[in-house]
Amino acid sequence: MRRLILFLVVGLAAACSKRGGHAAAHRAQPGDIAIVGATVVPMDRERALPDHTVLVRGDRIVALAPSADVDVRLATVVDATDAWVLPGLVDMHVHLWSKRDLDLFLLNGVTTVRDLFGEPARVRWRDAIAKGELAGPTILTAGPILDGDPPVWPGSDVVTTADQARAAVQAQKQAGYDWLKVYSGLSADVYAAIIDEARKVGLPVGGHVPRAVGLDGVLASGQVTIEHLDGYVPFFGEPVKESKTALTVKAGVWNCPTLVVTDRFGKLDDPAQLAGTRGLELMSPIEREGWKPANDFRLRAFTPEMFEDVRQKNLRRRELVRELNAAGAKLLLGTDTGNPYIVPGFAVVDELGLLVEAGLTPWQALRTATAAAGELQGRPGELGVIAAGARADLIVVGKDPLSQVTNVADPSVVMVRGVVRRRDELLAEARKPPPSPADVLATLPALPAEGTAVASARYDVLFRDAPIGAEQANLSRGDGGPLVVHGHAVYTVPGSTQTTYRATRDAMELTTDTLAPPRVSVARKGGSVVATQDAKPPLELAADDDAVLAPQTIAEFVWYGEALATLAVGDRRTFTLVSVRTETELVLAAGFLTFTRTADADGRRHYRLAGRHGTLDATGTFSLDADGAPHRVSLALDFGTIVTQRVQ
Ligand SMILES: [Zn+2]
Repeated sequence: MRRLILFLVVGLAAACSKRGGHAAAHRAQPGDIAIVGATVVPMDRERALPDHTVLVRGDRIVALAPSADVDVRLATVVDATDAWVLPGLVDMHVHLWSKRDLDLFLLNGVTTVRDLFGEPARVRWRDAIAKGELAGPTILTAGPILDGDPPVWPGSDVVTTADQARAAVQAQKQAGYDWLKVYSGLSADVYAAIIDEARKVGLPVGGHVPRAVGLDGVLASGQVTIEHLDGYVPFFGEPVKESKTALTVKAGVWNCPTLVVTDRFGKLDDPAQLAGTRGLELMSPIEREGWKPANDFRLRAFTPEMFEDVRQKNLRRRELVRELNAAGAKLLLGTDTGNPYIVPGFAVVDELGLLVEAGLTPWQALRTATAAAGELQGRPGELGVIAAGARADLIVVGKDPLSQVTNVADPSVVMVRGVVRRRDELLAEARKPPPSPADVLATLPALPAEGTAVASARYDVLFRDAPIGAEQANLSRGDGGPLVVHGHAVYTVPGSTQTTYRATRDAMELTTDTLAPPRVSVARKGGSVVATQDAKPPLELAADDDAVLAPQTIAEFVWYGEALATLAVGDRRTFTLVSVRTETELVLAAGFLTFTRTADADGRRHYRLAGRHGTLDATGTFSLDADGAPHRVSLALDFGTIVTQRVQ
């Protein structure tokens, strides 16, 4: 899928005459790559090594030595004369959405990331990247956020008892996650159980400072990383009064300050300030649109005073970073990509700049993005450094990063696990538009029909007028029996997901790549709806006998269309519904929709609708084609309008 290697080749003859003459301490083998003649900043300690050569074999660095001591005749040579070579950068706080994020990280020389809100797809990406099947930075991933009830974020693992907490830790370990992420709403005993169980299964814990535990409690617990300086300067609430610096140093905890995310947040009341954010043009229009403050539901309740409070706290955050650094406390670089105006990869350079503004030297700032990560992961000498035995992740930049830290921007060459990627190639990759949802749909197997085919329909799904998904539905009727809907639904924005289902009025089965295990069955049982995800304990939600099962738009609206056939113009009818959500975990949620029939037009029935879908209030319109397939569904939600429109 990609051309993996492009070289800046220096003629072999030149290399021979210059470097082959005497008995070299290190000798390249065929297949090796030699990065020659650079000033190497190995990041193991504060130093820069002029005219050095880095010799790479497979995914490892096998030698770092003065160029004169390396015989590179048999290697592929990357000429880095007059350039600087550093370890690849590490962003320890990201939220990955699309595979294009991976391209943006590589473009900026970020060769390792830690995703702090994982899901099953993240584990698959991580493994595919490790096997070389997918291009991207090495991924470390936490599982879903562990939070109390109600959780701050949908999709969190809600744990309210110590037993639940231990079971959740076991399950996340089982699912293959690398980290656990704790959040603000955990109770003290549940938090203690997480920490204890995490130690038993050998998973590190990072995240917020739960309000019920407090900073002192977290510092005493063995939690490995604290994000956003939470606890010291909480996003909501007052900063701690007395200094916790000595306690932090003693605890050995790592702080990942993510200065850039709160810096951007403090500018969202005047987003014109952010128009020049580097890399913005590489984000999809839908992401850029979603970042506009007017479209961010979290910001609606923000007053001018609250923005001023964020800015004041940002000053305190920088002071704190300076104090922590001066005292020798451990610091990591993280950006919290996924948030407004935090462009993957580019934001790492911005964060480095902010760390220097806070008082770190360029070398200290670079260390938070390199060697510190290796130390955190228990692999010093292997991750975040240039040394024999280290993973071959490195960048080549044109200017001295130790005099100006932002000189790490726009590396000309990025080596990731031993593979050379040149800037123009990475830029072309990052600029490539993602595959259209319809293209993805076209790659899926044809859908079956049972008995008599009734209708076959294809839909585009648009969010704020931009394509985000596609759905294909086959309606059929087995021997005069009830209607059956077979469907595929694919989304490409913000993440890429695929779901395939078979639904009747009373039961459905679906498989989706957002869940592990991927298979779900939903059926009516007495006065409730029961959902089962393979061997997991079933979910149950009390529901009316005629509540509509709502897994995907078409599978849901077919049933309204069928039941509304007898409704007269001007009349209304209300349906209760059970939405089956599968974004990050299986959730059943009650809701309702009231339909009012409006005048027919274009040979179609038309309706106005209003109600509640899961946690979202919705208003909109619905029209139906003569063959019984929905024609157009338009739902205005709090954060924008989603339209599902028949195209075939
Ligand atoms: Zn985050």
